[in-house]
Amino acid sequence: MMDTTLAPTLPVPAADRAPAPAGAAQHAVADARTYVVRTLGCQMNVHDSEHMAGMLEQAGYVPASAADAARGSADVLVINTCAVRENAADKLYGNLGQLAGVKRGRPGMQIAVGGCLAQKDRAGIVDRAPWVDVVFGTHNLDALPVLLERARHNERAQVEIAESLQVFPSTLPTRRESVYAGWVSISVGCNNTCTFCIVPHLRGKERDRRPGEVLAEVQALVDQGAIEVTLLGQNVNSYGVEFGDRGAFAKLLRACGDVQGLERVRFTSPHPAAFTDDVIEAMAATANVMPQLHMPLQSGSDRVLRAMRRSYRSERFLGILDRVRAAMPDAAITTDIIVGFPGETEDDFAETLRVVEASRFVSAYTFQYSQRPGTPAADLPDQLPKAVVQERYERLQALQERISLEENRAQAGRRVEVLVADTEGRKDGASLRVSGRAADNRLVHFALPPAVQGLAAGAGAHAVGHPSDARLEEHPHPLLPRPGDLVTVEVTHGAPHHLVADSALAGGIYAVRRTRAGDAWAQRARARAGLGGDDHGHGHGSGQGSAAGSGAAGGPVVLGLPAVRTR
Ligand code: SF4
Repeated sequence: MMDTTLAPTLPVPAADRAPAPAGAAQHAVADARTYVVRTLGCQMNVHDSEHMAGMLEQAGYVPASAADAARGSADVLVINTCAVRENAADKLYGNLGQLAGVKRGRPGMQIAVGGCLAQKDRAGIVDRAPWVDVVFGTHNLDALPVLLERARHNERAQVEIAESLQVFPSTLPTRRESVYAGWVSISVGCNNTCTFCIVPHLRGKERDRRPGEVLAEVQALVDQGAIEVTLLGQNVNSYGVEFGDRGAFAKLLRACGDVQGLERVRFTSPHPAAFTDDVIEAMAATANVMPQLHMPLQSGSDRVLRAMRRSYRSERFLGILDRVRAAMPDAAITTDIIVGFPGETEDDFAETLRVVEASRFVSAYTFQYSQRPGTPAADLPDQLPKAVVQERYERLQALQERISLEENRAQAGRRVEVLVADTEGRKDGASLRVSGRAADNRLVHFALPPAVQGLAAGAGAHAVGHPSDARLEEHPHPLLPRPGDLVTVEVTHGAPHHLVADSALAGGIYAVRRTRAGDAWAQRARARAGLGGDDHGHGHGSGQGSAAGSGAAGGPVVLGLPAVRTR
């Protein structure tokens, strides 16, 4: 279960598409149309945007320049919407209002709106914003290039929404955001009926991909340089029910353990009702499955869980955490919680505080309930006054902040292996640190040894990908890690939302392990900086596919899997 209500704050940020690589202009056909995909919402949307970008590039579009991307100006601007965020519609129409002016100043520009809100509002989007050219839904991502073409040709807006899934998104061309880590969908849709959630209505019933297909995509990613994969589904624990194997998810985790070169496997999201011990056993027994679990609680009150139509109860939830910790003592567990569900009493809320205190979450994505049109809970009586919800929310946040701080402070002195990221540390330049994720997915900011401080773009001197960034060199300084490399450091202190590991400053623990992922990052960064090489990392595929548009920096990775039509 994706619990998309909560997903906007999950670790991977929804962000504008990556700006155009510096080398793109050299390769692009002179009159190629440019595009930007703007993403709102959860990981599923971020991954869908990777498919949208891949399809556009396969159709001959090239990424817009960084300046155009920032302005929202391109020949084609795609907004991948979210329907579960509070004020999602207001936000979309506000965005579209601004874009009307941009479009007036850029003849031929097209605006496409996809994702959950498009699936929900359909032609209503064009009624409210007639300057929108294309509306497409969650079930027909593959139609985007054709709809753009048709809208241009017919000079009128195209609205096409499918009622059920046409093509598994995973089989579409994909332009991956990251070379060292990738998302792999194992299922789409959800069979649950949580009363606050609109996902089942917009994404449909759960459809599972076959394990062989999932593993082929995992292998292809690894062959292209990735060392981390996150398996994605709205409810990963029900994976396999469609093809009659209730143990399929545990088996899939174990099979990932056999993929050579795959160092880190994560998944999101499980559902407490369907989370079985075979999954815990598979996690503990599979060396590359990371000691991390995102387990959505939503409420600690059994009465509220019943009203939410979530079939587990608080004691079962706590029992799962106990068993996970017994099997993986270092597991970091995070959660989602909704405060102020209709009818929630002070006693119900006290139950949530009790369960949160007992759960010792490393972090929690906490949300104030708000009515989402189209969900059953929106029509429930006893909607709570905003002030009541706000006050409870603040109390919950204060409790969780204290627990997060205690849990992270307890990490001091621990040795962690950090997968270096290229997007996580906004203050790295000023703090002269580099950032990444520990095995348990905690965010770690760590100091470089004095000898190499300032050499990396993220830790000082330059913009990332600047040609003088020393990490782009063929043989970088052995102490200088690149995104995708693994660095072992010792935690020196914990803050509520991250760890700091400055062991290198005093000559303490600091070891860089070069990885294929780091090589792939450097290769792509060199291409983007116009220093040669191709942009696809280790783009040999697994015999399944090669990078489409080879030679075009920023081109899509085509997995070459057959585009399986669903029933
Ligand atoms: S219906 Fe429930 S389980 Fe399914 S996506 Fe929504 S919150 Fe998750």
